[in-house]
Amino acid sequence: MMKNNWQHHARYALKGANQSNDFFKTKAFKDQEFSIKIPLEYAQLIDKNNKNDPLLKQVISSKTLLESDHFSLSPLEDEKHSPVAGLIHKYPNRVLLIASRVCVIHCRYCFRQNFNYAEHDAISNWNEVQNYMTNDIKINEVILSGGDPLSLSDDKLATLIDNIERIKHIKTLRIHTRSAVVTPSRITSQLADMFKNSRLNIVMVLHINHPQELSFQFAQKMTQLSGVTLLNQSVLLKGVNDSIEVLSELCLSLFDLGILPYYLHMLDKVQGAQDFLVKDEYAIQLHQQLKNNLSGYLIPKLVRDNNNHAKDWLL
Ligand code: SF4
Repeated sequence: MMKNNWQHHARYALKGANQSNDFFKTKAFKDQEFSIKIPLEYAQLIDKNNKNDPLLKQVISSKTLLESDHFSLSPLEDEKHSPVAGLIHKYPNRVLLIASRVCVIHCRYCFRQNFNYAEHDAISNWNEVQNYMTNDIKINEVILSGGDPLSLSDDKLATLIDNIERIKHIKTLRIHTRSAVVTPSRITSQLADMFKNSRLNIVMVLHINHPQELSFQFAQKMTQLSGVTLLNQSVLLKGVNDSIEVLSELCLSLFDLGILPYYLHMLDKVQGAQDFLVKDEYAIQLHQQLKNNLSGYLIPKLVRDNNNHAKDWLL
C-alpha cells in the first residue's frame, strides 16, 4: 500500500528519463542538461495521452534547445545582493533566505536551476544570518525561499520559525513554495498548527501556473491553513498558460480556494527555457483581456524581475 506521507512521496518521485518514460509510457523524456524530477502527486495530474499536456511541458526537456544570446545560466544574479551567505537583501524592509537547496519538482524554466546553493545556504550560515537580521531594525519581513523551504522537515521549519520569532522587529514570515501544490501531502497538520500558533503574520506565496494543477487533495489542504494569507504567483509560459481562457480559469479557481492571484511573472531568461518565452506585447494584451474579464482583485500584477533592485512593472 502506498504511504500517504510527503517524505515518502518525495523519495519516490520520478527521477531521470528512464523512470519518467516508464511511467508515462513514452520515449519522449531524454536525460539532457536538465535533471528530471517529477513528484507522483503531480505526475498523476498529467494526461498521459496528451503530448502537449500543460503540466508535462513544465517538466520535460525541450525537443529543440534553441540558441540565444539573451539567455544566461543565472539571469537574476541574486548573489550580487547577498551581504552574508544565504541571505539576499534587495529591498530595505525585507530579506530573502535561501532556506533549502532542494525542490520536490524540477521546473525547466526555473531561474535558479544553476544557482550555487553550496555557497548560499542560510541554514548552514545561521549565526551570521541571524546577526544580520537582528542588527537591522528596518527589516520587518523574512521570505523563505530556496529551492523550496517546504522541502525542510516540520521539525527543521519549527526551529527556523522559532529563531525568526525571537527577532522582535520581524512581523511577517513569507513562504515561497511550489511543493504545496505539486505535493499537497506536504501540508501536514503539524505544519498548519505551526503557522496557526506563530506570533508572525504568515503569508504563503504559492507557485501555480495552470488550473489543472489544482487537485482535490490540494483544495482540501488549503482549508487547513486558516489564518494564513494565501497568494499565488505564476510564470507566463508559452504553450502552458498563455491564453486568456487558461489565465481566467486559473484566477477564478484560485479565488474559489481562498488564494489571491498576486504576480504573473514574465519568464526569467535562463538557458534551456527559450521555448517558453512570451513576447511583451502579447503578455500585455493578455493582461488587458484579463482586466476586461475579471474583477480587479483577481488580476495578478504583470512583472519582470531584473538584476537591479526593483521589479519592472509591465503595466
Ligand atoms: S519549484 Fe521553484 S525553485 Fe524549485 S525548480 Fe521549480 S521554479 Fe525552481
